[in-house]
Amino acid sequence: GTAAIGVTGLATMGGNLARNLARNGYPVAVHNRTSARTEALVSEHGDEGVFVPAGTLAELVDSLQRPRQVIIMVKAGGATDAVIDELAGLLEPGDIILDGGNAHFADTRRREAALRERGLHFVGTGISGGEEGALLGPSIMPGGSVEAYRQVGPVLENIAAEVDGAPCCVHVGPDGAGHFVKMVHNGIEYADMQLIAESYDLLRAVAGLAPAEIAEVFRTWNQGDLESYLIEITAEVLGHTDPETGAPFVDVVADRAEQKGTGRWTVREALELGDPVPGIAEAVFARALSGAVRQREVCASLPGPTEPPGEVRSGFVDDLREALYGAKLAAYAQGFSMISAASEQYGWNVDLAGTARIWRGGCIIRARFLDRIAEAYRTRPELLNLLADDYFAEQVSRSQQAWRRVVGTAAAAGVPAPGLSSGLAYYDTLRASRLPAALVQGLRDYFGAHTYQRVDRDGYFHTLWSGDRSETAS
Ligand code: NDP
Repeated sequence: GTAAIGVTGLATMGGNLARNLARNGYPVAVHNRTSARTEALVSEHGDEGVFVPAGTLAELVDSLQRPRQVIIMVKAGGATDAVIDELAGLLEPGDIILDGGNAHFADTRRREAALRERGLHFVGTGISGGEEGALLGPSIMPGGSVEAYRQVGPVLENIAAEVDGAPCCVHVGPDGAGHFVKMVHNGIEYADMQLIAESYDLLRAVAGLAPAEIAEVFRTWNQGDLESYLIEITAEVLGHTDPETGAPFVDVVADRAEQKGTGRWTVREALELGDPVPGIAEAVFARALSGAVRQREVCASLPGPTEPPGEVRSGFVDDLREALYGAKLAAYAQGFSMISAASEQYGWNVDLAGTARIWRGGCIIRARFLDRIAEAYRTRPELLNLLADDYFAEQVSRSQQAWRRVVGTAAAAGVPAPGLSSGLAYYDTLRASRLPAALVQGLRDYFGAHTYQRVDRDGYFHTLWSGDRSETAS
């Protein structure tokens, strides 16, 4: 065989990834279940590099140098299993299968273990950046063994996005670590978008700005600490006018947010790990609630604020920027904490600084402040929460008062801000010297004899609530 690497699954993502590889000088073998896609790719883009079209997976495998490296870019789920099964029968020990689809990390762990038994490497790889990223340089989050990364790492680093001369690709950790980190990336993306959407809503409903004016606000915000791809495209979307009606585009779009599942996965896994991600959960629930059309209808006549919310502060727009920044920090703190919890649980030893570094370019949540997050974890790998980092603690202490004003204003105006307010509650919970969890423990002991610990002595205790209310050690 002569091709350096193969790609099977040539829809949007796989086709663009194959072109990216070819443009970077790798002769790439290409295959798709429906061969028309393979032919279209080669006839439209054949001049971009060396493509070796294959009609079957057996032909694809035959055309590869050894050890063979095959990237699967098919629909996640059963299709991926079917392709892996067929490929595994054609490959030889030492060959590498890379799954670039949005697989659940538990599936990746299962597939990796099964293929390892057969002597094959399996590299579950998170890829973010959508269509354009796949072509021009995505953020790449590979899992799998160190040995496999030694083979495919250089190729992946070559086709990844680049920031400050460093590739947005790092070996995240063994087995499912790459897909786990990609899942949390998407969870953070949900939270980020929800916070942006709430900010837009408040600028419109409270500050009375029109979408085109709000686009300008976001354009300004994109000059500072908030600089990021999502803020940049928010300005684009809000500035767009529907060509058919002449209305702001955002006003002709149905207000029901859909989802493909990675946000839900993130929250489910966080629940399993017992590591809270309320900002991400609120974002997933906010999408679901927006789509609960019938419930929204039957509740539509419930009253809003009966007292006028009062004058809007002249500094409201600046306050909102601070609130958005604080809540965004809280969401990232939650995401990184969750990765750290999973890393411990599964023994992955994930490099959190490296993770922040590879999210600086290529992916959807790429943002200026990821530099600072990378720096925080580089200087203190044992950092327990991002908000406790010196730099971010200083930032959030500057933002928090404005953040409180915004959450108060939103409540007074009757504008839902679940992301902004849950972020603030997360912040206040973490910094509280005493939490009412003490009362929860008391109640649990009262009705269920679940026992409690004391602040002044070691051990577990139970109060004889229905007796003389004396305390017993348990
Ligand atoms: P789709 O998820 O739409 O999948 C279509 C591709 O899967 C086609 O090549 C199709 O072949 C192939 N396929 C489907 N079922 C089978 C099967 N049973 N056997 C063999 N091949 C099959 O394509 P995308 O390019 O959008 O995404 C590819 C992967 O990348 C997915 O896992 C997706 O979740 C992930 N991803 C997508 C991103 C995006 O922005 N779209 C971003 C990051 C990851 P055929 O042409 O014959 O139908």
